[in-house]
Amino acid sequence: MNSQETSSRQAIIEACLRMNAAGINQGTSGNISVRQQDYLLITPSGIAYEQLQPESITCLALQPGAVPQWQGPYPPSSEWRFHRDIMLARPEVHAVVHLHPVFCTALALNRRAIPACHYMVAAFGGEDVRCAGYALFGTAELSQQVLEALTARTACLMANHGMITLGESLEKALWRAVELEALAKQYVHALQLGTPVLLSAAEIAAALRQFVGYGLQTPPIPQALASNETRD
Ligand SMILES: [Zn+2]
Repeated sequence: MNSQETSSRQAIIEACLRMNAAGINQGTSGNISVRQQDYLLITPSGIAYEQLQPESITCLALQPGAVPQWQGPYPPSSEWRFHRDIMLARPEVHAVVHLHPVFCTALALNRRAIPACHYMVAAFGGEDVRCAGYALFGTAELSQQVLEALTARTACLMANHGMITLGESLEKALWRAVELEALAKQYVHALQLGTPVLLSAAEIAAALRQFVGYGLQTPPIPQALASNETRD
């Protein structure tokens, strides 16, 4: 294991702990994958995040097929298939975060997309965040549904399940996960007050142009995810 891979494994563990501390994940329902050269690193199935060590993270071959080819002390997350299929279909994606956060999932239980109710919707690549159709977890059908919903997007909701965010890096995928749950929370609250006013296509196009420039920089770590440690 080279030092780059060791630091990727450590970053996955830190991301798991940070998502739970930020309240966007419960228990071990969330999972994370990070692309390496011809394989991906993915959280193992059913191990408490507090018990994870760098060597506990599972290596999964980046090859199509129904049976996962993996290495490590534990099998990959039971949701390994869409992680792998997204990485195979979207070469620009280096990290995938999948969670069941309360507000995203509340919308997904209603099979509702997030429309252009806030300019932040543009942070996910377009005028909405779609909700993928339902399929049983771990199936090729679910991979198909989420890939379709993720067309030209970096996030989607998943019917009766949860959500996915993508990133050019793990930091960006995690940033999008926090922002998507905040957006879902705002939208759910707005629906309780009435009918949210949606932005026009031109207004969203202007926000998208801003995000192109913004996307060239590393996004700030959301306050909720900022480490408490003091750094030199
Ligand atoms: Zn799930």
